[in-house]
Amino acid sequence: MNKLAAFAITALVLAGCATPSPERQAIDAAAAALGGADRINSLKVLTIQGSGVAPLIGQNRMPDDELPVWKVSEYTRTTDLAQRRTRVRQLREAQFLFAGETVQRQTQGLDGNVAYNVGGDGSATRATDAAARDRRSELLHHPVTAVRAALGSGAMLSNVRTDAGMQLVDITTADGDKVTLGLDAGTHLPASVTSTADNANMGDVTVATTFSDYEDVNGVKLPRHLTTRMDKYVQLDLQVSKNAVDGDAADLAIPEAVKSAPAPTPPAVVVTAEPIDKGIWWLAGSGNHRSIVFEFDDHLVLYEVPLNEARSKAVIDKARTLSAKPLTMAIVSHHHFDHSGGLRVAVAEGLTIVTQRSNEAFFKDLLARKHTIVPDALQKMPREAMFQFVDDQATLKDAAMEVQLYHLIDNPREGTNLIAYLPKQRILVQADLYDSTWLQHPWGDNVLANLARRNLKVDRDVPVHGGVEPFPQMVKTIKAHQAAPGTK
Ligand SMILES: [Zn+2]
Repeated sequence: MNKLAAFAITALVLAGCATPSPERQAIDAAAAALGGADRINSLKVLTIQGSGVAPLIGQNRMPDDELPVWKVSEYTRTTDLAQRRTRVRQLREAQFLFAGETVQRQTQGLDGNVAYNVGGDGSATRATDAAARDRRSELLHHPVTAVRAALGSGAMLSNVRTDAGMQLVDITTADGDKVTLGLDAGTHLPASVTSTADNANMGDVTVATTFSDYEDVNGVKLPRHLTTRMDKYVQLDLQVSKNAVDGDAADLAIPEAVKSAPAPTPPAVVVTAEPIDKGIWWLAGSGNHRSIVFEFDDHLVLYEVPLNEARSKAVIDKARTLSAKPLTMAIVSHHHFDHSGGLRVAVAEGLTIVTQRSNEAFFKDLLARKHTIVPDALQKMPREAMFQFVDDQATLKDAAMEVQLYHLIDNPREGTNLIAYLPKQRILVQADLYDSTWLQHPWGDNVLANLARRNLKVDRDVPVHGGVEPFPQMVKTIKAHQAAPGTK
């Protein structure tokens, strides 16, 4: 090799070392736009105060309606960047008819890998590992935390690309968390952070936070508007009234009471079967979502596959022990997520889904979704769904059993609700019309009007929520708590 060639090779090697990857260049430009890598790395505490709205997913009146919202009137997030501690305190007020506490004060925290919640009385309890994972991921949904993680020594950067005028870079943090950072092509400021997560109803979802309206705070650019969406649904739209850096974070450490507590595991699913009448069982047990089994001549029908796969599979298994007749149908009372969480496992188990017609597109979409992050029964064993849609009313009847199904009309919260009525036994089977434990019954009038309109003579209420009660007791409770204070 001559001298010139050796020099050329040395120059090439040096150039290779000196030129950062396109990913690194993008992150460096983002850090510079925010105030510089040194400034970002020297920050100790971020405090965000503001207000906004937090829509409630899976609880709208119709599947395509706007979501009901909590108004978040006070919001403060304090994050200790070095210790990886964060805490959100908020006051939220229901802007929709709600049977529980309509004004709630919440405190949720994370210290390292341990999540905790503080109750209204100030007592702290440890939250689940799943909550800790979500909050750890949430922590990266901010320009400073995301860029700082990307600058970290163990971080891996990959797949720089341009999409819709934004430069995107995939980041795997030193702790193994994965996010995609979106940078404004002009200003290089972070415009979004995106990650993936599992949702029991929706399966694989994209959680994306967008940032805008940047301001300068002590040499760091911070956004005054943050919006987090899960797929198309807004989860939190936050207007920041005050961004502050390096404030006090002394009380962010995990509360003493939580330090040594083990992470709570999901409570065991218990399903009991209480005979209500000949060929009718009420499946209760753990939790406050019950199901009802009806025995026909040659098959069984289940009313409600609630919550999630674990609860609904246990309910389906229990129903199958009650008789040698095959379980063939599941009536899904309405589309709210806590009532349709067993839709996919019911289809996987070969049950025909009986539901109100307005749920068709929404349910078909839920059934078509991918559940690869936490594979569920339908993901593992895909199966064609069978449906029986009810418009205004339908009757399931043979010599052994008659169940009438009625669409609940003009209810302000429940647009797709199907109630069941057993004319021989004068039993009402319902979800969300009435629960004896509710604080108030804001749509009680509508419930009684629906029963009158259908001319249903009811002796007993056999509910999804609450206890089995004589009908006169139900009417009395509704009338006593109809206009309770706090009801909107
Ligand atoms: Zn409910």
